[in-house]
Amino acid sequence: MNGRFLILTAILAYSASHSPAADSTAWQKVSSTHFIVMHTGDEPLAKTVSERAESYYSTIAADLGYTRYQNFWLWDNRVKILIYPSAAAFSEACDAPAWAAGRASPQRHEIASYRQSGEGFLSTLLPHELAHLILSDFIGESRVPLWLTEGFSEWEQSGRPPPAAGGLMSRRFPLKTLFSMDIRRDTDRERVSLFYAQSASVVGFLIKTYGGDSFGSFCRALRDGKDLAAALASAYPHDAPSLDTLEQKWLSPRTTGP
Ligand SMILES: [Zn+2]
Repeated sequence: MNGRFLILTAILAYSASHSPAADSTAWQKVSSTHFIVMHTGDEPLAKTVSERAESYYSTIAADLGYTRYQNFWLWDNRVKILIYPSAAAFSEACDAPAWAAGRASPQRHEIASYRQSGEGFLSTLLPHELAHLILSDFIGESRVPLWLTEGFSEWEQSGRPPPAAGGLMSRRFPLKTLFSMDIRRDTDRERVSLFYAQSASVVGFLIKTYGGDSFGSFCRALRDGKDLAAALASAYPHDAPSLDTLEQKWLSPRTTGP
């Protein structure tokens, strides 16, 4: 839970002050279809990051039902992934607190991190931040509810687990409460942790039960200005005509699923 909270805090604290062109680091790059990975001499790592990023991109795009979206993040719109040579270099260039593992900026189309051992960046931060960036581009940053973007990122980061019935959660918020929560300044770690877990459960339930096309329709309805209840009702007319109905469906034991 710590890591998630730290990631969220890092995003909120993002400052647009740094620029790879402005610092003295000698950058090299590995380009792929949707990404430009900038590195300082570790090409094997950059290639691995590039391959993993493309793989996450495909999965996340399919979950949003837009595999036919041809011009998304191509050419000049490719997302930059900066890998600084050390935590200190990253921290200094990005004006990041010492604990931050990385940063994402929707405005700059950029994710920044640093060379580190282990899978933390590749398996956790990278899919989480990519999901944020893609959803933000798809819906429009100001229109994405917090539970949706954190739930989506959390679910993608966790390897898209099958949705357990919400009723199995020992504690939970009513969906009406969850959907209007802003935990960004919440210091109660248990509440924050529950917010992430429940948001991921609801997102996973929607995508696994009803598919990426319906989830994509829901996101497009938000993008087009519908409020949350109306967007859910338009994409899931039988299963979420109201928040109460959605809550019952989410709570009920799963008997079927794709
Ligand atoms: Zn997040």
